[in-house]
Amino acid sequence: MSVDEALAREWIAAVAESVRAEAQHLTDLDTAIGDGDHGVNLRRGFDAVTTALGGLEPASAGDVLGKTGTTLLSKVGGASGPLYGTVFRALGKTLRQGGTFAEGLRAALDGVRQLGKAEVGDKTMVDALTPAVDAYASTEADETDAARAAAAAAKAGAASTVPLVARKGRASYLGERSAGHLDPGAASTALIFEALARVTARANDR
Ligand code: ADP
Ligand code: MG
Repeated sequence: MSVDEALAREWIAAVAESVRAEAQHLTDLDTAIGDGDHGVNLRRGFDAVTTALGGLEPASAGDVLGKTGTTLLSKVGGASGPLYGTVFRALGKTLRQGGTFAEGLRAALDGVRQLGKAEVGDKTMVDALTPAVDAYASTEADETDAARAAAAAAKAGAASTVPLVARKGRASYLGERSAGHLDPGAASTALIFEALARVTARANDR
């Protein structure tokens, strides 16, 4: 099994569903240490993605993910729009060029780090994305296992942001007061990998 068009579409649909279900939670997290728009931002973005993909003719997995990225880039404001836009555009580009999904994830992480300049420990989505990409790469031989490992790593990475003091993004304006809260972007990154684990497990059962 590999990430084909159908799986890419199922993944993005599953992310859109999670984002809708968790929008209030993500917004609450962002209210604590940011400006309270993360859930709203992502819901608007993934609603637009759902519409955009609905109008996309049969295409490759790379096209589906690339379209997801460009749509997020144009519809989600704030810090997370360009960052998640970069994630999906990098994935799309890598797949279109014949690269593997693991290579696409690596390119996504590189793009996010280049754009946001955050390192692990700065209390951002990078704290969830980095271990997820590493876990996926080290279990790549079996995509279902890889996705499951990546989801677990993203979740643990997100949880690891709780005690941290933010050094990037709006939360950094709070200084020490940002400690004791889960980073909203790390939480949404965990949702994205949980959705991947769900759809790959389902595809594997078919
Ligand atoms: P904004 O902060 O502009 O309101 P969002 O609320 O949508 O945007 O997203 C906030 C999230 O974006 C943070 O929780 C963090 O995970 C992520 N983020 C912010 N700045 C950076 C950065 N420089 N690098 C990586 N991630 C970042
Ligand atoms: Mg915000």
